[in-house]
Amino acid sequence: MSELEAVIGLEIHAQLLTESKIFCGCSTRFGAEPNTHTCPVCLGLPGSLPVLNKKVVEYTMRMALAAHCSIAPRSLSARKNYFYPDLPKGYQISQFELPLAEKGWIDIEVNSQTKRIGITRIHIEEDAGKLIHDEVRPVSYVDFNRTGVPLMEIVGEPDLRTPEEAGEYLRRLREILHYLDICDGNMEEGSFRCDANISLRPKGSSGFGTKTELKNMNSFKHVEKALEFEIRRQRAVLEDGGEVIQETRLWDTARGVTLSMRGKEEAHDYRYFPDPDLIPIEISEEWIGSVRKNLPELPEAKRQRFISRYGLPEYDAQILTASKALANYFEECVRIHPHPKTVSNWIMVELVRELKREERDLEQCPVSAENLAALLDLVQEGVISGKMAKSVFEEMFKSGRSPKTIVQEKGLIQMTDMAQIQRVIEEVLQHNPDKIAAYREGKTKLFGYFVGEVMKKTQGKANPKIVNEILKQKLDN
Ligand code: ADP
Ligand code: MG
Ligand code: ZN
Repeated sequence: MSELEAVIGLEIHAQLLTESKIFCGCSTRFGAEPNTHTCPVCLGLPGSLPVLNKKVVEYTMRMALAAHCSIAPRSLSARKNYFYPDLPKGYQISQFELPLAEKGWIDIEVNSQTKRIGITRIHIEEDAGKLIHDEVRPVSYVDFNRTGVPLMEIVGEPDLRTPEEAGEYLRRLREILHYLDICDGNMEEGSFRCDANISLRPKGSSGFGTKTELKNMNSFKHVEKALEFEIRRQRAVLEDGGEVIQETRLWDTARGVTLSMRGKEEAHDYRYFPDPDLIPIEISEEWIGSVRKNLPELPEAKRQRFISRYGLPEYDAQILTASKALANYFEECVRIHPHPKTVSNWIMVELVRELKREERDLEQCPVSAENLAALLDLVQEGVISGKMAKSVFEEMFKSGRSPKTIVQEKGLIQMTDMAQIQRVIEEVLQHNPDKIAAYREGKTKLFGYFVGEVMKKTQGKANPKIVNEILKQKLDN
């Protein structure tokens, strides 16, 4: 059998960060008492009528433009009919034949190669409610607070070939959503969900094999793991002379396997039709123009600018622009302490490490950009050494205090007074006539010993550069 390759296409549901729901004024806030954010519209009571939230359209337009899609001047809302207890109307309002946007792309980077992934379409729809199953009794409850929360569905072309590419595509998409401020991208909490479609085919062929659709992955890692498992499973089926069955499969996190959920013969017939309660969505050129004008700088553009404007290596630019908050932090720091590479090093090494260790986001970072810049100023001015700066930084991270306060309190000021350092050096030399002799006879390694003694006597405060200079002068005479 010839070598097989995977064909993967993702469908993403992103919860939009609007204040109110898509067709009513109810709050979208998460975590409220069940069924307190509801009204006749989102409960689907007879006689109530939906009115589209303009912000939902605007946010989706932002994504459409960022993903190079064309925005339809006129698109339609459609009813997707199915029965489930979390869907009070018996249908979900979505879009079908005429989606809001289509035919776009985003670039991903895999193994230092740029690859363009097509976006088939982007449409808007409402979320369903949430079922809560009683842990003891055989009953379930339904919470309609989530009903009508706006979702944007991004359907991708089957252009991905490996789980790694799929993971990279997801990360890129989430990064863009963050930059656009339209979705918090939290996969664990379900505000960013991914269904992964996958099939295998002989490498080099252009046709498609039968696909399965994987659901229930709630982290990037699990999407990749589920795809890896499914590639192995489908390969085994095909190599055994069998056929892949078109079906939906659930990822079982605990067991690390995908399990059949429903087959094609049970697949829903949604009987889509245009929703007669809603008028077509009309989007003018002017509106598109103004949304485009107000788009923020996107990750890729920011990366390029960080490289050209600050002279940073690509690697640094990549890390610093991984989140908008981190990029802003960097730029704020550089504004005060205009040494980009130094700032970048400190952020990538010290700051990121402390944040990781404390499992904090940058938003909860005790060290402000101003304070980090002030610390680097102190090093630059020679007030403290680079080594001292690291321990001051740790202290800043613990207490949130300014570097000046900490340096003063701990008496950390670097000793730069030549006369003072000279005195300490004299003292050290006086105590070690034998070592001086040995040094002069060629045991030059002893130089480090003298430096060490001086640093010990000054509790590490002596400026090492000055210590080295004076010592050299004294010993080599
Ligand atoms: P469905 O009608 O089953 O939802 P679609 O044609 O709408 O299928 O495609 C849904 C998703 O599945 C898209 O992201 C698409 O890229 C992907 N897809 C379609 N065909 C295949 C295939 N043969 N293998 C892998 N992914 C596929
Ligand atoms: Mg589908
Ligand atoms: Zn409502």
